[in-house]
Order: sequence, then structure tokens, then C-alpha cells
Amino acid sequence: MSDEQVRDDVRDACRILALFGVLNDVVGHVSARPSDDEVLLRCRTPDEEGLLFTRSSQVASLAFKEGRVYGDQNGPTIPIEWPIHAAIYEARPDIGAVVHAHPPGALMCGLAGVEVLPMRVYDYAPIRVILEGVPTYPSAAMIDRPERAEGLVAALGDKHVCLMRGHGIVATGATVREATIRAIAYESAARMTWRLANSGREIIHLSAEEIGDSSGSSSQGDTAAAVHDGWADWSWRYYRRLLAERDAGRMVPVEKGWP
Ligand SMILES: [Zn+2]
Repeated sequence: MSDEQVRDDVRDACRILALFGVLNDVVGHVSARPSDDEVLLRCRTPDEEGLLFTRSSQVASLAFKEGRVYGDQNGPTIPIEWPIHAAIYEARPDIGAVVHAHPPGALMCGLAGVEVLPMRVYDYAPIRVILEGVPTYPSAAMIDRPERAEGLVAALGDKHVCLMRGHGIVATGATVREATIRAIAYESAARMTWRLANSGREIIHLSAEEIGDSSGSSSQGDTAAAVHDGWADWSWRYYRRLLAERDAGRMVPVEKGWP
């Protein structure tokens, strides 16, 4: 993938995540690491209009070295929470993209101590993300300096999504589309869990048998993994089509996770 394609993926990820309300207004950011010494990060420009209207020119080429960030001094303004991206890339060579967002479902579940449930076995991405494991980082402090990112990275461990209680989430992946799909999937599960927890009704948890084996270790799991890979491509194409239809002035469904 060329730098330009990765930059366009970061742009589209910002717009898609904003379309679903995972990124809100002008806050939150997406990055990608196309090579060992470069990170492409959504920054802000003086004519900022919000994540939904992200342009490729707002995705800046940066380098993180020894707790500092380097970029074009005349380029867009680097978000204050850049250490989130720097620390995760340094600790996790397997990660090629990072989403940091403050979505409402994850915020409400985190603050109320409501565990996001594996549900909707027919909707592959959310249940897969929950089963992969989503640890909690217990501080709501802004990650605006490298020392503060250390705790977040420790909490994330070898997982791909971390709930930042009272703050938001990080969602990661080998690619921008993986990180984006995880962020949307986790938030949709959190929104549904929140509604369920507030219904006042007894929650009947799914059995392990109903959920199935998503570890990839059994023949069923291998099939599941293959479906998952295809699912990511299908979902990404669907999300980009939503953007295109919206740009063409046509109404599109954007609900995700609210029953
Ligand atoms: Zn934040």
C-alpha cells in the first residue's frame, strides 16, 4: 500500500467513525504507521470542520522519537494526546493503526462499571472484539505526555482494544480498516449493553456453546477466522459506500447499536 493510500484510509476512517458517532465533533483521532519511521496522524487545521469532514491534507506525516514528536512546523496542529499513538507503536510492532475516540456507549458503560457483553452472535465483529478481551485503563486523565501513556500501554497489554474509563477507547489493528472495524464493533456492543442494563430486566447471558469458538484453534474457529477476514473487507466497502452515498446527497442509514 502506498503512503497516499494509507493517508486516504486514515481520512476515510475518521469520516466513517464520525458517521457512526464513535468520533465526535472535532475530538478524537486516527493514525497509521506505513513504515518504521513514519506515522500518519489526523491533525487539526485552522479551518477545522470536524472529523466527519476530514480531508487527506489534514493527515500529517510525523515521527516519534525518544518521547518527542517531529513534524512539519507549518503543517496541521498535532493533537495534544499524540503520546497515545507514540507509546502504542513503540510497544507493539504488530500494530499498524490506532484509533482514539470518546464514544458515548463506552463512556457510559465504563463510568457505571457495566461490563460490555458478548451478544449478537450473528453480528461477527462485535462478539469477536469482546471475546478477544478488552481491558480497562482506570484513569480518565488526558494522555498528554509520554509518562501518562505508559499506564495505558500496560493496560492494553497484548490486546487490541482498551476501555479508558471516563475518557474513551483505543482500538488498534494491523491496518486502518481493522482498527476502525474494532472501534465501531466495540461501541455498538457497548451501546446495546447499556440499553439492556437499563431495561430493568434480568439479563440472560449467552452460553459458551451459543457463542461458539472464535479462538481460531479449532476447525470451526478456522472457518470463523476466514469469515472474519472477509467480513472486514465487506464492512469496509459498506462503510465507504455510505460515505459516497452521503456525499452524493442521498440519505443513508447510520444507526449502529441502538435498537
Ligand atoms: Zn482523549
